[in-house]
Amino acid sequence: MTVATLSHTRVHPLLPTVGADQRVPLVTGHTTRFVNLDVAASAPALSAVNDRVQQALAWYSSVHRGAGYLSQVSTSAYESARESVRDFVGGRPEDVVVFTRNTTDSLNLLAGAVPAGAAVLVLDIEHHANLLPWRRSRLTTLPAAPTLAGTLASIEAELSRVRYALLAVTGLSNVTGESLPIRQLAALAHRHGARIAVDGAQLVPHHRVSVADLGVDYLAFSGHKLYAPFGAGVLIGRRDWLDAAPPYLSGGGAVREVSTGEVEWAASPERHEAGSPNVLGALALGAACHALAALDSPAVAEHERGLYRQLVDGLAGIEGLRVCRIWPDSEDPTGIVTFTIEGYPPSLIASVLSAEHGIGVRDGRFCAHPLLARLKLADGAVRVSLGLHSRSSDVDRLVAALTALRANGPGWSYRNHNGRYLAAADPRRLPEFLGGGRLDSTEGAGSAPCQPAADQR
Ligand code: PMP
Repeated sequence: MTVATLSHTRVHPLLPTVGADQRVPLVTGHTTRFVNLDVAASAPALSAVNDRVQQALAWYSSVHRGAGYLSQVSTSAYESARESVRDFVGGRPEDVVVFTRNTTDSLNLLAGAVPAGAAVLVLDIEHHANLLPWRRSRLTTLPAAPTLAGTLASIEAELSRVRYALLAVTGLSNVTGESLPIRQLAALAHRHGARIAVDGAQLVPHHRVSVADLGVDYLAFSGHKLYAPFGAGVLIGRRDWLDAAPPYLSGGGAVREVSTGEVEWAASPERHEAGSPNVLGALALGAACHALAALDSPAVAEHERGLYRQLVDGLAGIEGLRVCRIWPDSEDPTGIVTFTIEGYPPSLIASVLSAEHGIGVRDGRFCAHPLLARLKLADGAVRVSLGLHSRSSDVDRLVAALTALRANGPGWSYRNHNGRYLAAADPRRLPEFLGGGRLDSTEGAGSAPCQPAADQR
């Protein structure tokens, strides 16, 4: 443990989550409490969410068309989850709340509703989910400028130059944790006759958002990043484009009337929720929104800030470690720190953290290839992400593990399998409930074992 980590106020989990004390095997044969520093990918379920789902299962039945009591209960719960979501993100009464699978699904739905021939503007810092769906429109991908101020100026210049229908931006970068000034961007877009869609996948889990107050036209986010990993996501926003668009899926539930040759589609949200919906996913998401809405905002901010400072101060003590930022003039990032360590491939770092220390992080290019290219990180980086379940001892464990790696190199052998470093002869087994078989199914499949070596560091 470093002196820097000791000097911080200790931070504890803000809400209980399922599996918070899960023990995992190490390659050494020991077990340890798993440290989940990969919540930007998927967050653990809140205990309150799990309770809600278990409760609802006993009352679960079909929604909307069933006449039975349980169908009526399930329908009521499903529709009230829609209202919990709307309340949590400050939706306007006239906004449509569509339940989707995730942020990717939400943004694809919206991309299919952008009026034909309309122009869409994005920055090149986006997650692929907010880059690729728009390619079916007239898309301009604007390179971010070296500063945030310069980037805002270049967005303004572009909005003045061309008549855009939509500006689609991330609220918080999944690579660097930097946030964009959404209120300012919304005003800018509107001044130039464009709407704004916000990819809230990382923003909503960290910041209280009010769609109405910020002037956002559309917001997309995922339940599995909001402590509700039951397969539901959300698109909330203005009705007109959604009601004019072809239904996302064609089928039952999305129609008013069907004859053999004709169909009259329903209005949104039903228009875009064809087929039997993910009722439990929606309830889980509603329950997460409810639990997060009840948190005290200053306490959340203190939790986020405390852990973030402890993390960056701890990482600052590790030789050769470089933290990635897009802009020097953005506000302090939230919840996410991405870094490289000179001489150590990111996948080796991530594998060492897992195999020797029981710490889960993410390595790679984070579905943001253009941004990683801009940051000159074509070989990827390591991302650490913090959430409501995180505690100071998680950060201590990470900093101690990286310090040991930097000082002594890996304590196990790793082999290069298709460009990724994996623990060689990994003795860890799957948990008993999955049969207890081998964890590593790639062993022996065309990979060459190798000892810890200078080139791995
Ligand atoms: N946008 C951002 C900023 C993200 O971080 C992610 C997930 N990594 C997505 C979109 C896509 O989310 P999902 O996989 O839930 O569709």
